[in-house]
Amino acid sequence: MSADCLFCKIVEGKIPAKRIFEDELSLCFADINPQAPTHLLIIPKVHIASTAQAEQEHAPLLGHMVAKAAELARGAGLDGGYRIVINTGVDGGQTVDHLHLHLLGGRHMTWPPG
Ligand code: AMP
Ligand code: ZN
Repeated sequence: MSADCLFCKIVEGKIPAKRIFEDELSLCFADINPQAPTHLLIIPKVHIASTAQAEQEHAPLLGHMVAKAAELARGAGLDGGYRIVINTGVDGGQTVDHLHLHLLGGRHMTWPPG
């Protein structure tokens, strides 16, 4: 855990969030500022700042998060598709420095992203 980290505080229950799912490795909660009808965040419970800090040892955890996103997407009925996004660093548009996967769906997504 990182003392100053917003998402670590959500993991610990010190800051409220609309928790959708959790297991021993990961937590899913609703994004506070949704960009699509479905906008969930999936985070590791351990503090990893971003994919820039990801190592091979994190591969099972990251794979678990992607598989969990797919499960949640099926559960949310996103049968027409959806988008999984991981913003990384300043140029990637990351604003919270605890690795998180966005699951966005329920509307048509455009490309390229802004
Ligand atoms: P990123 O810009 O990729 O770092 O995404 C951070 C996301 O966290 C944004 O979509 C925010 O809306 C979301 N967010 C920030 N604070 C909270 C919070 N307290 N609860 C839920 N989502 C949050
Ligand atoms: Zn953290």
